[in-house]
Amino acid sequence: MTVRFKLMLVLFAILTLLLGGCSSKEDSLKEEPKPEEVPAFLQQESSSPQATALLKIHFIDVGQGDAILIQSPTGGNLLIDGGEKDQGEKVAGYLRDQGVEKLAAVVGTHPHSDHIGGLLEVIDNFPAAKVYLPAVTHSSQTFEELLLTIKNKQLKISTARAGTVIPLNGLQAEFIAPQAEKYDDLNNYSAVVRISYGKHVFLFMGDAEQASEEQILRAYGNLQADVIKLGHHGSSSSSSPEFLAAVAPQHAIIMCGIANDYGHPHRETIAKLNKLKVKIYRTDQDGNIVVSSDGKQIIISSDRGKKTSDSANMPGLEAKATPALDSDESGNYIGNKNSKIFHRPSCKTLPEMQNRVIFSKREEAVSQGYVPCKACQP
Ligand SMILES: [Zn+2]
Ligand SMILES: [Zn+2]
Repeated sequence: MTVRFKLMLVLFAILTLLLGGCSSKEDSLKEEPKPEEVPAFLQQESSSPQATALLKIHFIDVGQGDAILIQSPTGGNLLIDGGEKDQGEKVAGYLRDQGVEKLAAVVGTHPHSDHIGGLLEVIDNFPAAKVYLPAVTHSSQTFEELLLTIKNKQLKISTARAGTVIPLNGLQAEFIAPQAEKYDDLNNYSAVVRISYGKHVFLFMGDAEQASEEQILRAYGNLQADVIKLGHHGSSSSSSPEFLAAVAPQHAIIMCGIANDYGHPHRETIAKLNKLKVKIYRTDQDGNIVVSSDGKQIIISSDRGKKTSDSANMPGLEAKATPALDSDESGNYIGNKNSKIFHRPSCKTLPEMQNRVIFSKREEAVSQGYVPCKACQP
């Protein structure tokens, strides 16, 4: 044996020892380390970066009404609707809890109080760069108060209409409705927002009903979206079979109140979704619903703990061994649902796609009982 060969053997042995800590065995249930074994300094690290490479969409449970916070991967915030006036404080509190200090844009989809009421509190308390409303007026007190609040803040109203791009860092966001100048029903004036990030598309329908859906269908060749916030709280006057077929969503979000007066969501809507095998999330049953995406994978979680990932429906994603996130600087961590170990995105032994859980903060992983991988030491 030459000296060089011996040296290589020694090096190999050291390398094996060093890398052994994060072998694929580590991700099996058998070798799951107990939480007590995690050094305290690893558990207490609190300097995880604020910025996240994740798009986060929060469907805030405001009872019967809409309030949706969209946080772009680069930290821009967009609020679509704010629920009824008495939900304003809840929405403002939710925004603060998410670290929101200012809003790139606020959209009031249409003048009904279950959409614009809570915006009074929000516009009063958060600097907003832009406020979008459709070009329609309404004689309600809430609508007049909204106009006054906007005026008092010396903000200008930008018109929400199809084709207008919403300036939001890190995301493509635009209005695809209203298409027309005049409608019979106030709901059809709804500003409909389309957002795309990576390979995913998200549609936010406001209270748009069939008349608007038909115009959107005529105007856009490709309407496919992964997630849709259904129009008008799941009413049967929205979500026509033709429209749902064109959108072909995997996940549908319905925002409505428990035992609301309108019977939302209507049975017909649920039946249509079931027929298309669309997964349904409802604020009346699930509470707050959060959709996260790194542009390649969608994860949906809610207050009631339902947690699903679309990777199971996308064989292409499973087949690819590429990590969901590309850099450690993104501030993201990837957990293994089975082993409860979490990794840096650059770790060599990331779990299979269908077993992944993405955390935007280290504390989030730790608080859910995940322990750091010994090799990549997240
Ligand atoms: Zn409504
Ligand atoms: Zn409405």
